[in-house]
Amino acid sequence: MVEARQETLGLRTLEDISGLILHSHDLQETLDNIVTLVARRMGSDVCSIYLLEDDGETLRLAATKGLSRSSVGKITMKTSEGLTGLVMEQKGVVAIEDAPAHPRYKYFRETKEEKFLSFLGIPLFERKTPVGVIVVQTKETRVFTPAEISTITTIAYQIASIVINAKLLDSIRRKEEERAFFQQELERMKAAGLLKEDRGSSTRRKKGRQHFSLIGIAASPGFCWGKIYLLNQRTNLPGMELETALPREEEHKRFLVALEKTKIQTLYMEKRVADMLSKEDAVIFHTHLMIMEDRGFLGKVNDLIDGGTSAGQAVRKVVENYVQAFARMDDPYLRERSADMEDIGRRIIGALDGSERRERLREKRIIVARDIFPSDMATLDHDKILGIITEKGDVTSHAAIMARSLGIPAVLGLPDLLKQIGLRDEVIIDGNSGHIYINPDEKIRGEYERLQRDHGVRQRELEELRDLPAETTDGVRVSLKANIGLLSDIRVALANGAEGVGLYRTEFPFMTRKTFPSRAEQQDLYVKILEGFAGLPVNIRTLDIGGDKGLPYFTYPKEDNPFMGWRSIRVSLDQRDIFRDQLAGILLASPHGKASLMFPMVSGVDEIRTVKEILADVKADLERTGKPFDRSIRTGIMVELPAAVQIADLLAREVDYLSIGTNDLIQYTLAADRNNPKVKQYYDAYHPAILHSIKRVADAGRAAGKPVSLCGEMAAEPINALLLLGLGITDFSLSAPYIPLVKQAIRKTSLASAREMAMTVLTMESSRDIRAYLAERQAELEI
Ligand code: PEP
Ligand code: MG
Repeated sequence: MVEARQETLGLRTLEDISGLILHSHDLQETLDNIVTLVARRMGSDVCSIYLLEDDGETLRLAATKGLSRSSVGKITMKTSEGLTGLVMEQKGVVAIEDAPAHPRYKYFRETKEEKFLSFLGIPLFERKTPVGVIVVQTKETRVFTPAEISTITTIAYQIASIVINAKLLDSIRRKEEERAFFQQELERMKAAGLLKEDRGSSTRRKKGRQHFSLIGIAASPGFCWGKIYLLNQRTNLPGMELETALPREEEHKRFLVALEKTKIQTLYMEKRVADMLSKEDAVIFHTHLMIMEDRGFLGKVNDLIDGGTSAGQAVRKVVENYVQAFARMDDPYLRERSADMEDIGRRIIGALDGSERRERLREKRIIVARDIFPSDMATLDHDKILGIITEKGDVTSHAAIMARSLGIPAVLGLPDLLKQIGLRDEVIIDGNSGHIYINPDEKIRGEYERLQRDHGVRQRELEELRDLPAETTDGVRVSLKANIGLLSDIRVALANGAEGVGLYRTEFPFMTRKTFPSRAEQQDLYVKILEGFAGLPVNIRTLDIGGDKGLPYFTYPKEDNPFMGWRSIRVSLDQRDIFRDQLAGILLASPHGKASLMFPMVSGVDEIRTVKEILADVKADLERTGKPFDRSIRTGIMVELPAAVQIADLLAREVDYLSIGTNDLIQYTLAADRNNPKVKQYYDAYHPAILHSIKRVADAGRAAGKPVSLCGEMAAEPINALLLLGLGITDFSLSAPYIPLVKQAIRKTSLASAREMAMTVLTMESSRDIRAYLAERQAELEI
C-alpha cells in the first residue's frame, strides 16, 4: 500500500516537473522551481542542486531551497571534498542520519548549514555523463526510506537531462552567429569567382583517396571541413526479440514509465527549442508528443501487451506498422514523418531497456550516415558535429530542421554515399550550394583555411569594440539596441554591447506556450526582461500575431490574405481582454526598469487614439488597485505600413516616438511577401520608394520633435546603417550579433559623408544603380 502511494508520489512529481519545465523560461528558473518542489514534496528543510563544472571535478551550488540564496553560484567544492563530493565520487546514493559526525562532512559558513543533520545526496547522471548532485537535508535526524530515495532518483534523471539539454541549446546561439559570418563570406568568395560551382556535374569516385565532389540537397547552410565519423548504421528498430514478457501489469507499468520519461524528455526539448529558436523548430517535438499521446497509438501498444507481448516488442511492432504506412505516402513531407515515428520508437524502447546505444564523438567530426534522426541531433555532442552528410532525408526532415537550428551545415540526399566514402576521407561541406568535396584539393582547402583565419581575427577585433561607443568620426552618437524575443536573448544582446532593446517581440514567448499567459505571468516575464537589462531602455511591442506568426491555442479565421488580414494591432483591438491583460502586465512590470510601449501595424490616427483610450482605461483600473506602475510610460508606434508613412506627421503628434519597421514596410510598399522566395527580387530594401519613405518619416519626426528609430533587419548590414544614418536615423535596433559590425562601420565614418551618400542615393532612380553605388562605397570604406 505504502509502495503504491509512493509510486503515485513519484509519477505526480514527474508530472509536476514537466509542468515546471513548461512554465519556466530558462535553466535557472527551472532548477529553482525544482528545488522548491522537491523540498515541499519531501517535507525537507533543504533541497539543493550542485552542478559539475566543465573541468569535471568542481561542483558548484546552482539552486537551493533552504540554504542561503546568496551562496548560489558561489559555493564550490571539489568532488574529493565534502559529502556532496562523496556522492559524485561514489556515483551513488549517500544517505546519512548525522551528517556533521561524518568524516567527509565539510562546513560552509555561507550556507549557514550547521542546523542540518540528515543528508541525502543522489548523483545526477545523463546516461553515463556525470552532471551534478541533488541534496536533501533536514534539521531533525531522519532515515530516508527506499521509496523516498527512488522518488528523488527519478527526479535526478529529469534534472540531468534538463541540464544537458540546456547546455546543448546554449551553444545553438554561438553556432548561429558563426554561421551568419561563414554564409556571408562564402557568398563573397563565390561572387569573386574563388569558389567554382560545377552545378549538375558530380565527379564520381575512382580508386584510392581521390578528390571528388558530389551534389546533394542543401539542407542546412554553412561551410565546414573535417574528418568523418560513420554513425552507427541501423537498418531496423532495435530487435527486442529476446525480451520475455513479465506479467501484464508489470509490462503496462514499464511501458507507462518509459513513455512518461520519453514524454518529459520531449516536452523539455520542445519548450527549450521554442524558447531559444523558433516555434518552427520546436514543432518537431510537439508532433512527437502528440503521437505519444495519441489514443490509437497507445491503444495498439496496450492491446498487444494485454495479449501477452512484452512492452518493448509491442512498441516495436506498432511503430513498424506506422513507419511502413508513412513510407508509402505520396506526399514527401508525410513520407519524411516515418523517420520521426522510428525515432519515437527508438527512444521509448531505449527508455524501456536502458540499452540505447549512445554514439560518442571524441573529436570534431563530420557525421556520415544513412539517415539521421532528431534524437541523434539531441544526444550527440553537437559541439563536436562539424557537419552532416546523409544518403536519405530532405530539407523537410526534422533532423535537417534541427541542423539548421544548431547552425550545423548539412547536405542530405546523397545516394550511395556510404559506398563511395572511406573512413580516412576528409570532406568539405558547402551547405549553401549542396556540394561536398571529398579530399578537397589545395585550392579549395586554402580558401577554407583563409575563411577560418579571417573569422578569428575579425571576432577579436569586434570583441574589442564592445564597450566603445557607436560614434561617428565627427562626434555624432548613434544608439545601437537589440531586437529580442526571448529571455535567452538578454545575454546575447549584452554580450554584443547592445544599449538596450529597441524591439521586444512579445509574441515570441506567447508562441511557445500552451495557453495565453495570464496577466501575472506576463508581468513576471517582463520584469525579468527589464531587470536583465538593468535600467537600459526596453521597448516592449504589444502582440504582433497573425500573418505568419500563429499561436497554437488561438483560432484564426481562414483568410485568403493573412498578411493583409486580421493581424497585429487589429487582433488586439478586437480581443480587448487579451490586449488589456498585456498592457496591465507591462505596466505592472514597468517599475523594474525603463520600459516603453510600442504598437505594431498602426495604419491611422483613429486606431492609435483607440489604443490610447484603452491604455488610459487600464491605467485607471490599476490606479484603483494601488499597485505601482509608470504612469507616464512612453508610447510609440511602428511605422511599417505605407499609410503610416504618408501620415507620419499626423501620427507623430499622437505618440512619443516612431519606429520604422522596414521588414513589413518593404513587403507592403512593394507588394512582395517577405517570406516568398519567388518574389525575392521584388522585396528590395534599395527600391527608391523605400528609401524616400524612410527619409519622409525621419523628416516628419524631426519636424514634430519626436524621435524616430528603425528596427527592421535592414540596419544589420553596415553599409545600410550608414545610408540610414545619412537619411536621418541615429537610433537603430537590430539582431544583436550584428551590432559590433555596424558599430565598426559607424566609427569609421563621419555623419557628413553618410549624408552625402544618402543624398546621392536619393537622386538615383533604380535600385540596381543604388546597389552598385553602395557596393563601391562599401569597398572604399572596407566595411
Ligand atoms: C518590421 O516589420 O520591420 C519589424 C521589425 O517587425 P517584425 O519583423 O516583427 O514584423
Ligand atoms: Mg513588422
